[in-house]
Amino acid sequence: MTESVRDELRVIYAAADAAVRAAGPRCEASGRCCRFTEYGHTLFLSAFEAELLLEGAPEYPRPVSRDGCPFQIDGLCTARDARPLGCRIYFCDPTYQERMTAITEEAVAALKRVAETHGTGWHYAPLHHFLNARPEPPPADSMTPTRTPLPVV
Ligand code: SF4
Repeated sequence: MTESVRDELRVIYAAADAAVRAAGPRCEASGRCCRFTEYGHTLFLSAFEAELLLEGAPEYPRPVSRDGCPFQIDGLCTARDARPLGCRIYFCDPTYQERMTAITEEAVAALKRVAETHGTGWHYAPLHHFLNARPEPPPADSMTPTRTPLPVV
């Protein structure tokens, strides 16, 4: 991802955050929004968002199931600054659902414009798809000798 795409993405995130703040949905901090199957929804994101998320998220065990997000630990998001639009916009507050749809449509349209302007193509898929596509980090190097203490003379 180029720096200019990254900057445009951040502007879209900031606009979505501001729109959500203005709408003021209620959050009961149940954490259900990150446990997808239990709550009956799927987090979709674009390839751009996935790249930004993976740059800022901690390592995670694979394979990742479609049921939930590995970055939710003890009910909290451990990738908060890098979280994608769906996480920023989604709240279960029933009074916010209509506004949520409008904010989502606006943000996704802005993302598509970025894809079009930069000719990157458009790839939109559930979270586990992107997380499983990322290769596992190499295992710790067991061949590196451990430091032996210097003999005391
Ligand atoms: S990235 Fe954070 S907010 Fe989004 S689903 Fe995962 S834990 Fe939840």
